[in-house]
Amino acid sequence: MHVRTQVPLAPLTTLGIGGNAAVLAELTDPADFPDVVNLARREGARPLVLGGGSNILVADAGCGVPVVRMATQGAVFERDDDGEAVTVTVQAGQSLQDLVEETISNGLTGLETLIGIPGTVGATPVQNVGAYGQEVADVLVRVTAWDWATGREVTLSAENCRLGHRTSIFKHSTRWTLLTVTFRLRPSELSTPITYGMVARVLDVPKGTPVLLAEAAAAVLTVRRSKGMVLDPGDSDNRNVGSVFLSPVVDEKEAENLRAEQAPVNTFPDSLTRVSASWLVKAAGFTLGQAIAPGIRMSTKHFTLVAEGHATAREFAEAARAVAEAVKETTGIQLTPEPDLFGDEPAYLHLKQSALAAAAG
Ligand SMILES: Cc1cc2nc3c(=O)[nH]c(=O)nc-3n(C[C@H](O)[C@H](O)[C@H](O)COP(=O)(O)OP(=O)(O)OC[C@H]3O[C@@H](n4cnc5c(N)ncnc54)[C@H](O)[C@@H]3O)c2cc1C
Repeated sequence: MHVRTQVPLAPLTTLGIGGNAAVLAELTDPADFPDVVNLARREGARPLVLGGGSNILVADAGCGVPVVRMATQGAVFERDDDGEAVTVTVQAGQSLQDLVEETISNGLTGLETLIGIPGTVGATPVQNVGAYGQEVADVLVRVTAWDWATGREVTLSAENCRLGHRTSIFKHSTRWTLLTVTFRLRPSELSTPITYGMVARVLDVPKGTPVLLAEAAAAVLTVRRSKGMVLDPGDSDNRNVGSVFLSPVVDEKEAENLRAEQAPVNTFPDSLTRVSASWLVKAAGFTLGQAIAPGIRMSTKHFTLVAEGHATAREFAEAARAVAEAVKETTGIQLTPEPDLFGDEPAYLHLKQSALAAAAG
């Protein structure tokens, strides 16, 4: 384990915003995890866990509590006795993108439409990562985690992780550090049925059609690129966290009205109906590329916020507040922020409060 002090966190996040970690430990060897436990004891605080930094906003003042960056690597594939499935157990620091590519080349279905999502495998159960018809809940078997409340390593079944729409017991909690994640995938050259209209259109197939795994992934990447949802170092819209807001739940009447306005309204695995947050942002009158706060503007490709220059967490929080307020005023619908917040700062406490209030139901 490599420990450093006063480490700038901005370069370790996709937004490129925020102050220093007072202490940052980078874990590359899973066998060194006891050193993380000892560090936390010395510092007198549970650590914050950092993966690829693609879903966090770091406070301008940085983090006083220790930060552990999960950089453990490796995936072990095991075929079930009956040959019906393959389980893959993956170290938390492994890149999701690399894992998805490996499963596709091994002829395994279950993760192919998650191609292009940045970050680590260990973060995927945290918000039940999902995209274009697949989500972690479909294939998760179990996780192993360090439980800071009991001081023990535990194994939690998928059921005990209580995965919901972009949430789980791990979201908004510092209790567990995920160490490994086990998925169950099915051997097949074909993808799960393509359920997203945009992806089906790229493939030129009717919705509900399975296609070759590599074709499904390529189509998803085409759709993602059109929205700037694939990180590309040369892209001026690169500094983002994907979706700033969760897709809000709407009732039947709202769904009917929104569908009449051609809004993307979908029913999700939890049986709730949601409308696209980015559609609401557009409906509130925002335009692509529009400046929202100093250093923060709309992406030029999609209705999400991107950072520029020396943008600060305060500015990002102000921009998110301005967008949410405008959406509330024009559509009556409340948006909830998706990224997690590292460090406490009055300027963005309203984001944290609104996320926690929404999570509490
Ligand atoms: C361009 C872009 C597109 C995106 N598209 C999607 C999408 O389609 N669908 C989707 O669901 N998300 C999407 N995201 C969000 C993000 O990529 C995912 O949430 C991803 O899982 C975050 O992984 P990470 O390793 O970067 O986590 P981080 O941002 O480092 O951390 C996110 C949260 O998880 C916690 N965490 C991370 N690792 C662990 C661990 N080992 N144990 C315990 N807690 C941990 C952190 O403490 C933090 O609270 C997108 C982001 C970007 C920038």
